[in-house]
Amino acid sequence: MNTVLGLAFLATTVAQPAPGWLQDAETCNGWYHRWDDAALAQMRDALFVIGVPPDKKVIEKAHGQGTRVLVYVTFYQMPPGKTYQKANVSDHPDWNVIHPDGKEGISVFDSSDNPGWRTVCPNSPDYRRYALEYTKFIMDQGADGLFIDNGHPDVTCEAPEFGRHQHLYPGKDNIYAYRKLLEDVRAAVKGYGEDKIIIVNPGTPRKEWVGACDGQMLESYICTHAADHRWHKEARLLDFQRAWGPPADEGHAVVALSYIGHTGNSPREDAFYCYAWARISSFVWADWFTAKDVARALYKLRLGKPTGPMQRGDGYYMREFERGAVAVSSESRAATFGLSAKGHAGVYDVFAARRLKLGRSGNCEITLEPRQGRVYLFR
Ligand SMILES: [Zn+2]
Repeated sequence: MNTVLGLAFLATTVAQPAPGWLQDAETCNGWYHRWDDAALAQMRDALFVIGVPPDKKVIEKAHGQGTRVLVYVTFYQMPPGKTYQKANVSDHPDWNVIHPDGKEGISVFDSSDNPGWRTVCPNSPDYRRYALEYTKFIMDQGADGLFIDNGHPDVTCEAPEFGRHQHLYPGKDNIYAYRKLLEDVRAAVKGYGEDKIIIVNPGTPRKEWVGACDGQMLESYICTHAADHRWHKEARLLDFQRAWGPPADEGHAVVALSYIGHTGNSPREDAFYCYAWARISSFVWADWFTAKDVARALYKLRLGKPTGPMQRGDGYYMREFERGAVAVSSESRAATFGLSAKGHAGVYDVFAARRLKLGRSGNCEITLEPRQGRVYLFR
């Protein structure tokens, strides 16, 4: 089945890429606190921000300052006994995932953020109806789309065996049903305009969702609140780049979210390192405003389209864009290399906040200590 689906993904990726504005996005952000005027003011440099409440007035304010906004939703889990996303799962026993032992599915976040939350079944006809109804409600508020968290459904549901609900797709697992749900949600969202989007967060992007959404999130990219060190090493970052750079270049956006401020490094160093790796890989970089006090300049950068693929040199990786370049040094070695300023007035080092001296040939020589990321603007 994997092979057949794999081919289908490839076809749909090319046929239905994300809208141009998302393909051109370089950074974005997220905000899960109050969307008051102060919060909105700090979003001015962001192309789009995830986490807006489904509230017409707030969305209009964001649009007024040129910020696109996505509403956070989950189609994975719900808290029993209370209203969440306009519904109470306890009123809908036919929404729960049922495991082979006959018990209701429990969220993987049960022991952390969401105690007691149940998983829901994308193969349940009434749950599907509800998900689309809630999508319509969000889009009616004027949102630019949905950020669908927890894109990792419980794979099997035995509800038909236990008489809890029948399945829309009998005999199919929830990878199939969840993809179908994403396709339907995306179609509903596109009904409000081709520039509207859905981004799915499975934690790490999954090939199964390519073509069923406009993009996916790679959460806790390099820096995370769950580790006191950079937990994605160079080899893993190259794996991500190899696996997800090409789909990103074809129009399946990958949002790499780094939580800055939890390692022993300087947060500014971490922010530039994560940003540079993301941009080298064709990913949209996000930090959920965790670097706003140390690296706000990154939010404003508009490097333009890449002018070539990632280049690999002695102890460094680099990529050039229309209006600048990004570089990272390896984990173990310093690097020295030349950056050509040919055709440009000069080179500005964003980290150091200064123009670099050009050599006679029009090149500037750059030296990086190990584990550094930098960004340069041609100007
Ligand atoms: Zn089910």
